[in-house]
Amino acid sequence: MKIAFIGLGAMGFPMARHLSKHHELTVWNRTREKAERHAREHGTRLAGELAECAAAEVVITMLPTSREVDEVVDKLLADLRPGTLWIDATSGDPNASRLTAVRLATKGVGFVDAPVTGAVVGAENATLTIMVGGSPEGFARAEPILQFCGKKIIHVGPVGAGHAIKVLTNSIMGATVWITSECLLLAKRFGIDMKTALEVTNAGSGRSNASENLLPMRLIEGKWPLIFKLLHHDKDIRIAMSIAHQQHAATPMLALTQHLFTASLNELGDGADYIEVAKIVAKMNGASWE
Ligand code: NDP
Repeated sequence: MKIAFIGLGAMGFPMARHLSKHHELTVWNRTREKAERHAREHGTRLAGELAECAAAEVVITMLPTSREVDEVVDKLLADLRPGTLWIDATSGDPNASRLTAVRLATKGVGFVDAPVTGAVVGAENATLTIMVGGSPEGFARAEPILQFCGKKIIHVGPVGAGHAIKVLTNSIMGATVWITSECLLLAKRFGIDMKTALEVTNAGSGRSNASENLLPMRLIEGKWPLIFKLLHHDKDIRIAMSIAHQQHAATPMLALTQHLFTASLNELGDGADYIEVAKIVAKMNGASWE
């Protein structure tokens, strides 16, 4: 099948590599060198111009936000052919994706939102969990393609549902990282050794992915790798808040998490990793993790 893959960032580059083993892949990236490297290393076809992607049977986008996806849709819409399927793997905005689906439908083009979870390591190993929003027909077409990038592909509802559940689960994660960091800081100030505090946390009901996998390396070994940009995480939580506003829902914990993450982003900058919010937790208390 002819697939065009747009957006060869940390996630898109390895996802396109997996797909290229099973499909005829054309790649396009804003910074052309990355697409050239992909073509060189994985035998994919380099799109000379973005417009060439419109000839594909399936177009996949993996971009920062729905805004960039919409810019790409604007550029390709006139040339897209009826019967094409657009799979948006971006962690996007469900309202934007609904509008995008309507615009594409005017050209007879199908749309599913298919954001992913599992981080860069999941993209590299094709073990992502992929949550798909779209019609049953759209899902049936997308699933056999997405299975080359992930180990669990779940149809969660109509268009937008994939984007919605993605930002909501990331919000749960954000709140968990923050509260775990706060309590571990208190344990440290109480004089409890950090390894011991984590050992107890992970043997008890306070354990989470944050306490088991993400915080130990940072808080004990002082290693703070970039695994997921705080910029993207903050974006996800802000989208979750917009869903809450739209539903007239009372979500004080979510609102607080959003304020804390946005303030952390303003303090740490666009290049920070999302677990670095733990540094802000320490800073707010005149402390450090060292
Ligand atoms: P990156 O920042 O690594 O890559 C972003 C990609 O989008 C690059 O290819 C970039 O091109 C391209 N891009 C940025 N702006 C534009 C634009 N205006 N027009 C066209 N292309 C543009 O992001 P990730 O791959 O990490 O993330 C992509 C999406 O996946 C995000 O929505 C993120 O929230 C989500 N996600 C990320 C995870 C992670 O662990 N990284 C995990 C799960 C989901 P260029 O090379 O020119 O900069």
